[in-house]
Amino acid sequence: MPHALEAAPTARSKCRGCEQRIAAGALRLGESLPNPFAEGETLHWFHPDCAAWKRPEVFLEVLATRRAEIPEADRLEAEAQQGVAHPRLPRASGVERAASGRAACRHCKSAIGKDAWRIALVFHEEGRFSPAGYLHLACARAYFEAPGVDLMPRLRRFSAELSDADAEEVAAALEA
Ligand SMILES: [Zn+2]
Ligand SMILES: [Zn+2]
Repeated sequence: MPHALEAAPTARSKCRGCEQRIAAGALRLGESLPNPFAEGETLHWFHPDCAAWKRPEVFLEVLATRRAEIPEADRLEAEAQQGVAHPRLPRASGVERAASGRAACRHCKSAIGKDAWRIALVFHEEGRFSPAGYLHLACARAYFEAPGVDLMPRLRRFSAELSDADAEEVAAALEA
């Protein structure tokens, strides 16, 4: 079964990238994966933006044959290409204040203080995303190895709770 691209027939599917519901009628991209429970394949659904950020190779495969159906194809292609060029970028899964001071930064290994901003990471393994720890904002540039890439669009996409003021604070800290 090839990857899918279609208007969602109902509002029941959830995006694997941002974990929000996909509205009925909205365009959704389905990544075809072997079904772990039965013969055949299963589809994991994504908003097109979320696929470009979190599953860039899959997004580019779909884009190659279905480009005309994807709004803002040029912008999303550029985002996906950045993710392929810098393979750690698709791990970025939002930004939040640390609920406790117990987590260590995946880059520098030192603790992330309670209430400090941290970037959440996920790994994609065997068809699913699993939590992969956190980063200090100050460590993001070194960790992602993607100089010149603006992290904010993807961080905002995967942080539904973030206010505009919070986003400004995070953006300033990332640039510092
Ligand atoms: Zn999404
Ligand atoms: Zn750090």
